[in-house]
Amino acid sequence: MTVKLEPGSVIAVIGSGAMGAGIAQVAAAAGHTVKVYDTRPDAITIALAGIGTIYSRLADKGRMTHAEADAARARLHGVSSLADVADAALVVEAIVEDLDVKRGLFAELEGIVAEDAILASNTSSISITAIGAKLRRPGRLVGMHFFNPVPLMQLVEVISGVATDAAVAQAVYDTAASWGKSPVHAKSTPGFIVNRVARPFYAEGWRLLQEQAADAPTIDAVLREAGGFRMGPFELMDLIGHDVNYSVTRSVFDAYYGDPRFAPSVLQQELVNAGYLGRKSGRGLYPYG
Ligand code: NAD
Repeated sequence: MTVKLEPGSVIAVIGSGAMGAGIAQVAAAAGHTVKVYDTRPDAITIALAGIGTIYSRLADKGRMTHAEADAARARLHGVSSLADVADAALVVEAIVEDLDVKRGLFAELEGIVAEDAILASNTSSISITAIGAKLRRPGRLVGMHFFNPVPLMQLVEVISGVATDAAVAQAVYDTAASWGKSPVHAKSTPGFIVNRVARPFYAEGWRLLQEQAADAPTIDAVLREAGGFRMGPFELMDLIGHDVNYSVTRSVFDAYYGDPRFAPSVLQQELVNAGYLGRKSGRGLYPYG
């Protein structure tokens, strides 16, 4: 079986938060018509306005022409109903990190899109096998895991679940490469590659904080300035969003039968309880705005 996405084919992005907006920005700049859907209409408005501003800034800096910026902006469409993505060749889901909600969305999408459309999840940690298991055709479900911020981060993990069709994974890999990304194939294991390896980075940060070894700015500064990391664990979690990061930790912890190495932090749970989600809510470990 050969699956190929044509260069100008329609891409649907479901969920227009931090990740969905970035994916839509990159896909439209790469020449696709992009349809963006979110259950919160204001999230679509904010995302499209934000992307438009970024295109203008890129044009001002000479990184794209003003004509290219206008054309990319014109290829982006907010839609008010899932039924409006019926002509998508690829649907990339970037909604809340919850297995049941993602399964429900894909079940609905299966009744809307064409038989040969590819369904991709940007999940950080949930089993691709599990997300696809309830579909009529689980072979068309694949992980397309971008990193934050999407326009700047090169890596895309293309995740195959047990039932994922190899040709579907390859088509998504080729699509990511055509968008200027550096994709890598991986199997659906808890946390995949990056989020598995990165768990101790966050977990040890929280343990240091709990033991009052140093405060968050000091730990961040040490890892950034002496450790060679681009960001320390707390500033990075503020960027990712504590709700997202906490869900990922829980999901990896559960998948490994409660292995204490992956234990979530009660401090982070309290931040989530307080709604201190990081940059996106104006406050996390640090204040913003
Ligand atoms: P976010 O909270 O910024 O945005 C999620 C958006 O999805 C919101 O606008 C919300 O209204 C919308 N939404 C929720 N349920 C929906 C539904 N049923 N249908 C349509 N829209 C719905 O979250 P995010 O940070 O963009 O993360 C989205 C996904 O990407 C999650 O699965 C997350 O694990 C994954 N991810 C996040 C990061 C990161 O650094 N934040 C990195 C890689 C992957």
